[in-house]
This record gives sequence, structure tokens and C-alpha cells, in this order.
Amino acid sequence: MQLTTLSQSSLQDYVDCARRFQLRYVDRLAYPAIESEPTLENEQHQREGEFFHRLAQQYLIGIPSEQVGRLANTENLQRWWENFSNAKDLLGPLRENLTSLYPEATLSAPLGNFRLLAKYDLIAIKENKAVIYDWKTYRKRPRNEWLAARMQTRVYRALLVHAGAHLNGGTPFVPEQIEMIYWFAEYPNDPARFAYTSAQYKRDWDLLLKLADEIHNALRQAQDDASLYPLTDDAARCLYCPYRSYCERGVRAGDADQAEVEMEAEELFDVNFEQIGEIAF
Ligand code: SF4
Repeated sequence: MQLTTLSQSSLQDYVDCARRFQLRYVDRLAYPAIESEPTLENEQHQREGEFFHRLAQQYLIGIPSEQVGRLANTENLQRWWENFSNAKDLLGPLRENLTSLYPEATLSAPLGNFRLLAKYDLIAIKENKAVIYDWKTYRKRPRNEWLAARMQTRVYRALLVHAGAHLNGGTPFVPEQIEMIYWFAEYPNDPARFAYTSAQYKRDWDLLLKLADEIHNALRQAQDDASLYPLTDDAARCLYCPYRSYCERGVRAGDADQAEVEMEAEELFDVNFEQIGEIAF
């Protein structure tokens, strides 16, 4: 099946490692190796994270907090839910219903030869502002610089400018009206906030077009030409990559504690995507 859609995840894979993008989205290989140790604990954490998103969505569509809270049936979920319910500064205005809320909103727009697609945890329209909320259940709070450079931060804000007019009475948002907030279930009083400017929007959209163009050109050429999808030079990325065995980059998964270290290491490389683009591609 031909690749027609790009998302923040596939673009993040592409900028992290073109080979990973190829294996996951072009060749569509099932994951041959676990991502990090200990496996069961991490799978459970991931499932709880997904379930927490469902609880938040239920609450945001109007189901009473007490009723939703009864579904938080593990220690992590109970703690996260309690933190969420008590995050008054962040969620107070939402609770008081002063805003238009779009939980689990999906936006899409043409991007070169693809469609760019993003699913938002919540878009809240407050007076003349649009706030994108994203819930994170990370064990460790990432640094703001690392988050600022993530494709999610760039795609979500840019796509809201590009494709969010229907949420603003038919007029496109200007970037300065947009803010993105990552709220961390383990660190409820330390959200990461990212405002937006027209210059950042231009930078982001230009980069997205450039990446879409590169990917389109690579897809047009023979898929078995490995040089089109080079392996990352940064072996630290491979530690948590499920395709390690395909690339002969180790068999054993990195452990979850070390994933924190990976975040720190990535931070050094991800801050300037334009630079990375030039080096890697
Ligand atoms: S193991 Fe390393 S080189 Fe191979 S796909 Fe994963 S990140 Fe890329």
C-alpha cells in the first residue's frame, strides 16, 4: 500500500533515523524486538497511559469527574487522575466551561504530495486564543528545549494555523493566537508551554514541506536502494529502537531508566532540526 499520510510520529521517525522510517512506514515491518526493559512493566505503563487519555476525554465531553475517577483502577491511574482533577490552574477555566472544547480533534491538510494528519488530545478556544493541550504520562519530565524541537510541537501548532479555520468562525488562526501546553500527569504543577509566532510558523511549514518532498523523492526511487534511507549515526537512538536486529545495532533492549538518558542525549541533537536535516539528509 502506498504511503499517502504523514504524521508527527512518522516525521519524527524520519528525522531521527531515515531507516527506521523506511522499516516502519514504507516496508511496514512488524516490530521484531522490544523497545525497552523491563518489558511487562513498560507495556503496562503504556496501556495505562492510553487509558488515562480515555479518562481525560470522558471528562472533557462532560462525564462527571467522580464517575470517571472510579475507572482509574491502578495505582498509576489513580495518582494521575487525582493530579488531573486537582490541576486547577490549568483546567479550572475548562471546568467552568468558559471555552469551546474539542477533545480528540483531528485536523489534516495537504502537505506536498501527502496529507498531514494530527490527532489532538484537546483544542480549547478561549476568547481569541486557541490552546492545544497534550497529556503526557512520562516517568521523567523532559526539558522544554527537547519538547520545543519535537515534531509534535511543530506539527500541531503549524497544522492548527493551516487547517483550523473552522474552529475560529471560518477565519484561520494567526500563529500568535496559538499556544501549546504539555501537561505531565506525574508533574502536574510543571506544564510546558509553547507560544507561537509567525516566524516560527513559516520555519515549521517550510521544514514540513521540505521533509515531505524528500520522502516523496525517496519513495519514487527504488525502495531497495538502502542509501535513500541511511541508518542514523547516533547509535544511542538504536538502544530503544525495535528494529535493532535488522540493522545489527544490538539485540538487548535498553532499560527504561536509561531511556531518560536517551532523552538527555537527544536533546543535544534535536534542538536545531534544520541543522540536523542538512547533516543527515
Ligand atoms: S536500529 Fe538504529 S539505525 Fe536501525 S532503524 Fe533503529 S534507530 Fe535506525
